[in-house]
Amino acid sequence: MESIENRHSGTAGGVLVTSDQSKPLNVHVSVSPYASGTVAGQRALWMLVNLLVRAVGAVASLTVTCPENKLLPGVSPGHAVGSSLLPAVLKPAQLINGVSVAPAAQAPERSFVIGIGGVDDAQLYLIFGDWWGGITSTAGEDSGAILPFGPYIAAAHAAGQVFRASRGRTEFDPFFYDSWQHATTHEIPKDPPPLGASLKSNFLLAGVGAVGTAALLALWATPGLEGTVHIADGDTVDLTNLNRCVLFDMPSVGLPKATTAARALEFGGAGSLTWDPHNGLAQEHPRRQQPLDLLLSAVDTNRSRLALQRLIPMSILGASTYNLRASLMRAGPPRSRACLVCHNPLEPEISDQKVRERYLAADAETRARLAESLAISVAELDTWARTARCGELDNRALPFLGEALDPKPLQFSVGYLSVLAGVLLAAEAVKDRIASDGSLNDDLNYVGIQTVSPWSPRNSVTRYLPQGDCIFCGTGGSTTRLNLWEARYSHR
Ligand SMILES: [Zn+2]
Repeated sequence: MESIENRHSGTAGGVLVTSDQSKPLNVHVSVSPYASGTVAGQRALWMLVNLLVRAVGAVASLTVTCPENKLLPGVSPGHAVGSSLLPAVLKPAQLINGVSVAPAAQAPERSFVIGIGGVDDAQLYLIFGDWWGGITSTAGEDSGAILPFGPYIAAAHAAGQVFRASRGRTEFDPFFYDSWQHATTHEIPKDPPPLGASLKSNFLLAGVGAVGTAALLALWATPGLEGTVHIADGDTVDLTNLNRCVLFDMPSVGLPKATTAARALEFGGAGSLTWDPHNGLAQEHPRRQQPLDLLLSAVDTNRSRLALQRLIPMSILGASTYNLRASLMRAGPPRSRACLVCHNPLEPEISDQKVRERYLAADAETRARLAESLAISVAELDTWARTARCGELDNRALPFLGEALDPKPLQFSVGYLSVLAGVLLAAEAVKDRIASDGSLNDDLNYVGIQTVSPWSPRNSVTRYLPQGDCIFCGTGGSTTRLNLWEARYSHR
């Protein structure tokens, strides 16, 4: 049965206790008067509440104490700047239809209290600057951060702490993560000088799932960005996406991901980006620039990664998650560092015959839903499945049905980790625009973040080497394509 918690009910490779042994927490979020009036404090609150409401099975109930204040720009998509803060945080969270959330005058007894700013008696505090965020056991106010990355990173780590605690991992080790230097620290990191007044940003973002929606939200909330973000995803929102896609809620279920995300971010952003959604594959986006300047990959299948790499963009940044680990990579330089496809074996493709058998074995409701997605009648689809005559099916129908009817077990995927990966992807895209010296570069092109052990020596930038027989950049690929990538890469 489909439900919100499907995708995070697994054990993440045996790291967590099983979900039936889960001990859901009653969580209370307490915001200081100062933090409720800063854009960073408001963003930390919005993201924390959004993630905790999605953590069905880990959070039993959620209450919030927040002094009255006015909503600032770039905080809550779809809510008017200047309106009352708390409703602009709670109303969108309630539409997710996950954990119940309500305002409270004070923390209910026996609740796990998370503090934002200088409040008393919290077990865990969010601390953040422009580019860094972390969790500690002592209170602190922010020092006027205006970028969204730090508050979102802090909120993701706090939600992660709650999620893991409910599943038997209660150890807590305060730390900060700095997305500017990609470093985990005990000391509060130092932010670089503020961004310039305006920053030209034309990207193609492929994949509007959990990682993609978090990246889009972070770009929307970054002041000074201007240009067009082309976005592409051929999927529609389903119930199991709601545990981790920060821009989607119950009313989004059944709607196309790309246009739904773009609509959510239409107004109220901190910069002046324009969104150009395409409800289909990135390689078919009708208005993407050619050649592509910067591609942001937030897709989650290796076949999609191959299709994106074959577009041969000048620069590629890719973010993904696996169990309780997030990673971020820059593809290239060609021949000396990995491409987007290296070490990502293609998923097996199933035969047309198998797709037809699976379709015929599906229940009536599923068949009706698939026919609707393909904009043809159930009778037509039934005829195709029985006779293999596909006059009414276009060339995208078979791959779509193959994917939709694939009974593969759902990959473990949890909201806080996807948000972390998406926010790091957006931050790295902004760093790329300003040629930051802290960016992933031609030598150190990969960073992994193991959230169960933030101090793991593997949580640092490293060399991600190519795979010798890679089907794009190795002996399994085409020399013509590789030469073209080399030529484009040298012009970035
Ligand atoms: Zn490769």
